[in-house]
Amino acid sequence: MQGPSDIEIAQNVTVLPFADSAAEAGYRAYFLHDDRRDAIIAIAVFVFFKAAFSVFDLMFQTPEQVDLLLEARFAFAGISVIVMMLFARVRSARQYDALMLAWVLLAVISNFFTITHRPSGHFGFLGTSPMLILLLFVFFRNRFNLQLLSAAALTASDFFTVLALRIPLPTQTMIQTFATYALAIIIGAIVSWQLHGARRRYFATHNNEMKLRARLQELAYRDELTGVLNRRSFLLEADALWRKSAHTKLPACLLMLDLDHFKQINDTFGHEAGDRALVAFAHLVQSSKRPGDIFGRVGGEEFALFLPDASASVARDVAARIIRECQTLVPDGQPQQHLSVSIGLATVNSSDNDLRATMARADKALYQAKADGRGRTALAVDAIASTN
Ligand code: GH3
Ligand code: MG
Ligand code: MG
Repeated sequence: MQGPSDIEIAQNVTVLPFADSAAEAGYRAYFLHDDRRDAIIAIAVFVFFKAAFSVFDLMFQTPEQVDLLLEARFAFAGISVIVMMLFARVRSARQYDALMLAWVLLAVISNFFTITHRPSGHFGFLGTSPMLILLLFVFFRNRFNLQLLSAAALTASDFFTVLALRIPLPTQTMIQTFATYALAIIIGAIVSWQLHGARRRYFATHNNEMKLRARLQELAYRDELTGVLNRRSFLLEADALWRKSAHTKLPACLLMLDLDHFKQINDTFGHEAGDRALVAFAHLVQSSKRPGDIFGRVGGEEFALFLPDASASVARDVAARIIRECQTLVPDGQPQQHLSVSIGLATVNSSDNDLRATMARADKALYQAKADGRGRTALAVDAIASTN
């Protein structure tokens, strides 16, 4: 079981991946829904601007150029819509990364194509590309290095465009353009770095809270010594099954189990040896029960086992097996530390008002088993009636 010391509070979480790969995968999965939505918004915004530029094309270009440019823009918008639909279906961070990279490359190629197919002199892209860089940093938030790579790809593409078009830029404009791109990358990177850090810190805190909650639940739910259900949770879970059995009239049984002469084990071998014997016994029953059976420690050396869908004869076999296996248990490797258990068995009966009534009958039968010599099962009165 996990101890409270395993739960550290996250303080120095940066944009670096979590050391624990499960935490990293959990982080990315946790934000995947938001990331998908933001990616779709980013693409929609970008496609809208691309479409808006068609108006300029219609106003300023020759008819042949307009046709080609409009076709290229239409193809890009069409593919982008498909990418948006695919983003809506993304189920893993890896799919997200691949789709994001694919779309960014498409946007870069499309940019390059439309710009190089306009007459030179139209270099407004030098103003809009830095906006796209910001868009990449702000909206594609899953991976910092992917954002950098995308920004670098776009910058490189524009650089080659300037070279290819031999755009005659005055030195001052060159410097201003360079500064605009550099600023977009620096601002985008800083904002994105901070966002990543905030999200990671949030996730680390959230993760710790979840672990803490699970640990508290575990403490409230389980018996600390043996790890099986404690009395309260046994009663809760068994009660639900009891009601179901009473409602469906399907057979169900309850066993009350009490270790024999347990005080002697404590007195002879010490309290800690007694503890280990309790753990060994609890483990024996817990590991051999059916998944649907409910087993808990309801008192010091008293346990209870609720068997849904089990007739009295099935329950009797279960009890006999537990008694047999208990006798062969050797806690602490000391054969002289002999363990024995007595069991009271009651079937869920229509005359019982609730689980406690069935438990009371099983308890009575347990006293009978003790009185009859211990290490045996006694059936509660109604159970005897139903099996004979
Ligand atoms: P019987 O066969 O009649 O059940 O005899 P018993 O000695 O088992 O029953 P009794 O009720 O006289 O004593 C129960 C003992 O179980 C006394 C108590 O110290 C011990 N016990 C209860 N809880 C724990 C525990 O958590 N650890 C240990 N080591 N002993 C426990
Ligand atoms: Mg006892
Ligand atoms: Mg007892």
